[in-house]
Amino acid sequence: MGQRILVVAPHADDEVIGCAGLILSSKLKGASVGWLLMTSVEEQYGYSEEFVQTRKKQIETVKELLSFDTFSNLGFHPAYLDTIPKSEIILAMSKVIQRYQPSELYIPYPGDAHSDHGVTFDCCRAFMKPLGTIMWKKFVAMKQFLKPIKILLLIKNTLNPTGLLISVIL
Ligand SMILES: [Zn+2]
Repeated sequence: MGQRILVVAPHADDEVIGCAGLILSSKLKGASVGWLLMTSVEEQYGYSEEFVQTRKKQIETVKELLSFDTFSNLGFHPAYLDTIPKSEIILAMSKVIQRYQPSELYIPYPGDAHSDHGVTFDCCRAFMKPLGTIMWKKFVAMKQFLKPIKILLLIKNTLNPTGLLISVIL
């Protein structure tokens, strides 16, 4: 089985800001790349219908431009992950992970400012031990930079089209 990367993004934009260049370069080398989105912008969480629709379109655009092979959305409430029992989050993640069988997990950097990133990192730690037949080769923490210029430089060094993604999401 070839390289199978699963990008664990607390919010829709973390995959682009955190590792879009890495995703594109891995795809060029023949890797399979899945996107696991932890939270979802929904009207029931207080977001406007317009914003919900805009976000859905952005997600579809990113899925296409980054050529994700799979997409799963756990649908948890953004900014409220720290109010949900970790066992519940880990169970939901494990279903995706067991199905996709990744060889590598790209996970959020625990020192990011948003609490959802820290909770997601903590939940990912549950999968850092070999589970059943899964043997992890690598974990990559998606460090996010506070200055956009650094993001653009990082991505420009890898591949160009991501500049378009930045404008779609931010
Ligand atoms: Zn985020």
